[in-house]
Amino acid sequence: MTQRRQLPFEEQQQLDLLLHKLQEKNATALGYPTAKDFDYTELYKFLQFSMNNLGDPFVPSLYQVDTRPMEREVVSFMAALLRAPEDNWWGYVTHGGSESNMYGLYVARELYPHGMVYYSNATHYSVGKNLRILNMPHTEVSTQTNGEIDYTVLKDKISANREKPAIIFANIGTTMKEAKDDIRKIKEILYELGMDDYYIHADGALAGMFAPYLTPKPAFDFADGADSVSISGHKFIGSPIPCGVLLTKKTHKNRIARDIAYIGSEDTTIPGSRNGFTPLIWWYAIKTMGHEGFKQRIEYSLSLAAYTLEQLQNMGIKAWRNPNAITVVFPKPSMELVQKWQLAIEDDIAHVILMPNCNKEQIDLFLKDMEAERISSIY
Ligand SMILES: *Cc1c(COP(=O)(O)O)cnc(C)c1O
Repeated sequence: MTQRRQLPFEEQQQLDLLLHKLQEKNATALGYPTAKDFDYTELYKFLQFSMNNLGDPFVPSLYQVDTRPMEREVVSFMAALLRAPEDNWWGYVTHGGSESNMYGLYVARELYPHGMVYYSNATHYSVGKNLRILNMPHTEVSTQTNGEIDYTVLKDKISANREKPAIIFANIGTTMKEAKDDIRKIKEILYELGMDDYYIHADGALAGMFAPYLTPKPAFDFADGADSVSISGHKFIGSPIPCGVLLTKKTHKNRIARDIAYIGSEDTTIPGSRNGFTPLIWWYAIKTMGHEGFKQRIEYSLSLAAYTLEQLQNMGIKAWRNPNAITVVFPKPSMELVQKWQLAIEDDIAHVILMPNCNKEQIDLFLKDMEAERISSIY
C-alpha cells in the first residue's frame, strides 16, 4: 500500500511531448512492418489487472488472473490457418517472433541434439543470437538475388553433412526483401539426399499471417512440411505491445514438457510469466476481422505495393518486389529521406513496406520526396 502522488507538472509535460512525438512519427513510418490501424479501446479495461498466463496455455494454472481460454482460441485459429495436423498441434502466444523462433530451434535441438542448422544469409539477426544461446552448430547458406535461399548451395551443404540430422530454418518473407523459401523444394532436397532425420522451422514473422490468403499459396505451413511456425502479432495484425505466436506439433512439444508443482501447470514455454493482454489483442483481431478481414487487408496492401512500385519505376528508379510481396525494394536514397520516412536500409538498398495502415495520400507524399531528390541528383 503505497501513497502515490499526482504526476508533477514537468513530468506531465514530458508525457505530452512523448504523445506528440509518437503521433508525428507514426504518420511517417514506412520502413518497418508494424500495422498501425488498430483500435483496442474495448480492451483498455483489462489493463487494471495483472493478467499473467503463467505456464502452458492448455494446462490450468493455480494463478487464474489470466486469459488462457482466449489464448487457446487464438492458437487453435492459427493451427487451422497453418494447416497443422489434427490433434497433433500445440502452441502459445509469445513475446514476439524472436522468442517463437527460439522455441522452434529449441524443439529441434531436443529432437536432434547432434543436428546441423541451415539458414540463409538473409535470415533475421535474432537467429544468429538464438543459435549462440542454444549452442547449436550451424551453416549459413547464400541467397539468390531476390533473397530466397539458394537451393543448390543448400543441397551441397546438407550433402556435405549427411551424417548429421538437418535442421532447416526457412524464411517465409525475409526481413529486407520479403523473399519466401519454398518448404516443398526443401523437402524434395532432403528426400533426394535420403535424409530421414530432419526438422523444418518456418519463420513467417510478417508474411506468415497473410501467406495463407495468397494465390498461389506459398509452400510454408504444416501441410507443406513445417514442424514449427513462428508469426509476429504486432506486424500484420497490429498490436500496441509486441507479441507472436509459436505453433509446433504436440509430439514435438512433449519432448520439452516438465511438470512444475509451484504453478500447478506444465513448464512448456520459454518465459515463466507471460503476457496476458496480448492474447486478448490477437483474439479481438480474429473476432473483429476474421478470415474475410485478413484477406481484405492483404489485398489492399498488395494493390498499394503495386501502385508504389509502378510510380517509382515511372520515375526511372530501379525498384522491384518479390511476387505477392508488400515490400518494395529500391536503391538507398539520401539519409535525409531514410530518416524522414523511417526507411529500413541494408548495404545499398532500402525498402518501404505497404502495411494495411498506409494510404495513397501518404505514399504520394513519399513519392514526391523521392522524385524531388531524383531530379536534383540529375541536374
Ligand atoms: C521481425 C522479424 C523477426 C523478429 O520478430 P520480432 O517479433 O521482432 O521478435 C524475425 N524474423 C523475421 C523475418 C522478421 O521480419
